[in-house]
Amino acid sequence: MFEHVDYYPGDPILGLNDLYNKDTRAEKVNLGVGVYYDEEGRLPLLGSVLKAEEARAKTPAARPYLPMDGLPAYNKAVQRLLFGADSAAVAADRVATIQSIGGSGALRVGAEFVKQYFPQSVVYVSKPTWGNHISIFEAAGLEVSEYPYYDAATGGVAFDALIEKFNSLNKHDVVLLHPCCHNPTGVDLTPAQWDKVIEVVKARELIAFMDIAYQGFGDDFESDVYAIRAAEKAGLSYFVSSSFSKNLSFYGERLGALSVVSPNADEKKLVLSQLKYIVRRLYSNPPCHPAIIAADVLNDAALFEEWTNEVAEMRVRIKAMRQRLFDVLTAKVPGRDFSYITTQRGMFSFSGLTPTQVERLIQDYGIYLVKNGRMCVAGLNTKNIEYVANAFADVLK
Ligand code: PMP
Repeated sequence: MFEHVDYYPGDPILGLNDLYNKDTRAEKVNLGVGVYYDEEGRLPLLGSVLKAEEARAKTPAARPYLPMDGLPAYNKAVQRLLFGADSAAVAADRVATIQSIGGSGALRVGAEFVKQYFPQSVVYVSKPTWGNHISIFEAAGLEVSEYPYYDAATGGVAFDALIEKFNSLNKHDVVLLHPCCHNPTGVDLTPAQWDKVIEVVKARELIAFMDIAYQGFGDDFESDVYAIRAAEKAGLSYFVSSSFSKNLSFYGERLGALSVVSPNADEKKLVLSQLKYIVRRLYSNPPCHPAIIAADVLNDAALFEEWTNEVAEMRVRIKAMRQRLFDVLTAKVPGRDFSYITTQRGMFSFSGLTPTQVERLIQDYGIYLVKNGRMCVAGLNTKNIEYVANAFADVLK
């Protein structure tokens, strides 16, 4: 009956997690999966979230079906966070936002929409990108290709090559962009570079699809959405997928959003109706609990402030770990420039380690990172940083 079924060997990043869990060494360190662990190596439950949940628990409520597009109070809060309280597009009712099943769900719903209404469009992703970007758009039946991004020689962005590529694309081709904390490299565009990208996207009539999963982990909540705000000011019609997995520590709650900015309120209505129809056929409607809690945190001034402070703490801790790693490696491996560790932003660092060096870290030290050398800096803490830095120095020598 099922002999013809192909075996799915699993996701390389999630597979790494399984190997880590099976490893019995006490000193093992997980720098593989993109998850924020605190100084104690634990997945945090945020204080702001706990307060919102405790308040809700005092008046337990039924669990109704949400509308296909999710909880209205949540969707409004997402728009404020991404586009700003003074967004002209939101005020003009030009932005369709739906609650989604994590950032992944937002990408898939967006991909389905693109496939249906721009079937000839090719989706261009950065080289490299988060692997699931390619899988999600291909699964929707779209052709996926790459644009130059990371320049291994400089550790920066191959910006001229990127612009040249964008200038060669066809009208309505999709360019998938990471507004902040690029996954996997940690290398971001500057505001001036974003301005240029948006200018080319507009001139070539490309479709920008911005995927933001780490808002708050770069500089701050506002600076991290520079690209999203600049695209709005430039008058683009574009897509934004967003996720609360990392910044609300809501991984398993599966909460994100898809926003589509349209040229006018009439077109927004058409777009929103189709996004709902896509959702109806995929999973009917999203879960109510995570949206209620997120809306409570985002819509209450005191909880919002507490939350942004908690994310700032995470960001500062990651930066301190980057600095310590830089200091130890610079002292132990003379003649090599490790400045990329402190200039990269967000959870990830492209460590420059080769697959062989990564394999040695796993085998000899129980330090797990992705084969391409991507390390999740948030897996470091003051207890394991010296161990990891020394191991890195050893395999780099
Ligand atoms: N986009 C990027 C760039 C990501 O790194 C991730 C999570 N690793 C996602 C989207 C998906 O987020 P979620 O877990 O909320 O589906």
